[in-house]
Amino acid sequence: MLMKGKRGVVLGIANKKSIAYGIAKACQEQGAELAITYLNERFEKKLAPIAEDLGCAGRLYPCDVSKPEEILALREALERDFGRIDFIVHSIAFAPKEGLSGRFSDVSKEAFNVAMEISVYSLVELSREMLPIMNAGGAILTLSYYGGVKYIPNYNLMGVAKAALESSVKYLAEDLGRDGIRVNAISAGPIKTLAAAGIGDFSFMLKWNAAHSPLRRNITIEEVGNSGMYLLSDLSSAVTGEIHYVDGGYNIMGMPAVIFDKEGKPHIAWNGEDR
Ligand code: NAD
Repeated sequence: MLMKGKRGVVLGIANKKSIAYGIAKACQEQGAELAITYLNERFEKKLAPIAEDLGCAGRLYPCDVSKPEEILALREALERDFGRIDFIVHSIAFAPKEGLSGRFSDVSKEAFNVAMEISVYSLVELSREMLPIMNAGGAILTLSYYGGVKYIPNYNLMGVAKAALESSVKYLAEDLGRDGIRVNAISAGPIKTLAAAGIGDFSFMLKWNAAHSPLRRNITIEEVGNSGMYLLSDLSSAVTGEIHYVDGGYNIMGMPAVIFDKEGKPHIAWNGEDR
């Protein structure tokens, strides 16, 4: 039981398809005691059975990260119920629809600011506000995507937000290192979730990744969950500031694999063709 004796809060479960659920489940299976949050009343009812399933029926709290008072109320609730905590999972992102398709240069300042506030600043604010109740040896984990490093069609504004998020992970890792707290990110391959549905042509992204990653398939929330659990556990006690890819290896590919037909003409491997 790698997480026995550890207590933590998971932000970002919308349903059982959420990456945050995969991470929470893996931590619970290894003995962690959890608290989870929901965005607003619309999600409260949906999350009640999930909280029960994760063994934390009495520890389901509201937290809209755009409201500082809800972050402070969350800290108070965690302090009351747990005393201190060992880990935080930040699995939250949002960008207005206009930022997830079309020309990137058309994005409004308002949309840009909203995406940065919800998807990036919330990690900084959470880290700061939870620090007083975090045990030394604790860990913080967030979720990123390769679109923050290289251009990905339609990822647009979220790509810029993920670049800022990954940089924030490094600056937070140095800053909180003095408190014995580690900060890491998982850069996950594409997975069909509620948030992903907002990205233009997402089903094409899934197909492309499966066709062009070394493992020749997409990944699951269970796989992200297991890697996330490792980054939150003492197994990774000397790992901080890392962007850890859980993407079937897609990020190492410099060029799509090519197949030659009988006439020797090259074409791009596609739809499960052996390469
Ligand atoms: P999801 O829709 O299940 O989770 C996103 C969560 O963000 C939801 O629970 C939602 O309630 C929460 N959220 C949005 N605005 C919020 C706010 N103001 N306050 C609090 N919570 C808020 O989708 P997911 O794919 O599991 O996304 C989780 C994380 O994983 C995101 O950071 C996403 O960018 C990242 N990610 C997703 C993929 C993918 O392909 N699905 C790949 C790489 C990284």
